[in-house]
Amino acid sequence: MVVRIVAGVAVLSACAAAGVEAQSGAPAKDPVRVKSDAIHAKVLTLDTHVDMRDGDYGVLTPGQKVDLIKMQQGGMKGVFLAVFVGQRQAFDAAAYRAAYDSAMRQFDALDTLTQKTRPELCAFAASPDEVERVAATGRRVIMTGVENGYAVGEDLANVKAFYDRGARYISLTHSGHNQIGDSSSDRNPPRNGGLSAFGRRVVAEMNRLGMMVDVSHSATTTFWDVVKLSKAPIIASHSGCKAVNDVDRNLDDGQLKAIANNGGVVQIVALGSYLKADSPERAEAIRKLREEIGMRSGGRGRQGGPPAQPLTPEAQAEAQKRRAAYMERMKEIDAKFPPATLKDFADHLDHAVKVAGIDHVGIGTDFDGGGGILGFNDASEAPNVTEELVRRGYSEKNIAKIWGGNLLRVWRDVQKATR
Ligand SMILES: [Zn+2]
Repeated sequence: MVVRIVAGVAVLSACAAAGVEAQSGAPAKDPVRVKSDAIHAKVLTLDTHVDMRDGDYGVLTPGQKVDLIKMQQGGMKGVFLAVFVGQRQAFDAAAYRAAYDSAMRQFDALDTLTQKTRPELCAFAASPDEVERVAATGRRVIMTGVENGYAVGEDLANVKAFYDRGARYISLTHSGHNQIGDSSSDRNPPRNGGLSAFGRRVVAEMNRLGMMVDVSHSATTTFWDVVKLSKAPIIASHSGCKAVNDVDRNLDDGQLKAIANNGGVVQIVALGSYLKADSPERAEAIRKLREEIGMRSGGRGRQGGPPAQPLTPEAQAEAQKRRAAYMERMKEIDAKFPPATLKDFADHLDHAVKVAGIDHVGIGTDFDGGGGILGFNDASEAPNVTEELVRRGYSEKNIAKIWGGNLLRVWRDVQKATR
């Protein structure tokens, strides 16, 4: 039977779960979707950047874009739950200690999740071989990296301490310049003019240990210092393309080519404001909502990071309730002032593939750190991405590279570089 497909009709099905059977009486599935679902089920789907949250990962958790159930529904096999530490403008022993302690509490939470509360649903992986072993068991693969080298403080031994807890990448900076290097988003004058002297030692230590150096959030000066210095391929765990949307967080074509020459990978982010400029009306509506709900300002992900002290269970529940309310109200804003869509996301992917090549592009959503767009708003909607790639002519082999193959290759090369 020949079925004609109307060009340009995007199927952004809310019921995106791969393998969900059509109800009897429901219309037959679109043949492109049938093909893309088969590919999606086969390939190793990895997301390199999701911010760690304190909700329950073992149930469908409102207010979280990633939990183990949404991952199952969306056929997502593995995720880096990033240990996130916000950038503070304090560079003394006490501030570094608080950042380090916050990181360690998040590593503890990862251990609890994978070893105590949900070992039947997920397992931790600290190497590409382990990723493949866990994925083969049908459990979700949990990996981790540290978002923000601020947590390293000025003690090089902390890089190894994070490695020993399972971290396999460190994003050198976040929203502000720090003791390691300058950030792309800080409007203050540069602190280091690129990597600091200590930052150079951090990169060398990461190379030695076999940790991936993550340049997402790095200033261009920091980026080029890292490219020159690193003995191993580098990654951008969640970034977009400046040529498609000119914002400070995105990478220009020269940077994309440098990552390709270095053997690394750029993981395209699914955060709306990096993909497409928000209209002033949308930006204003979001600002008002955040104010009303009492969320930290910033818009572009979380600026402040977890508090220095652990939250009480009551405060945790309250914060989760606030996030759920925020996500609910965001739907109204999305309907009124459309945000970036899956098409915009795929435009960035296409551009990165054109400039850096198919072997140097992947996916890092930034879910639970500001990520989420129309059509790819949480982990359960991942099959929509594969469908869009099939519609754009990507082969199964190339889709496998984008969804995780490239990242695993880079990770293996980074491990080898240590020997
Ligand atoms: Zn980030």
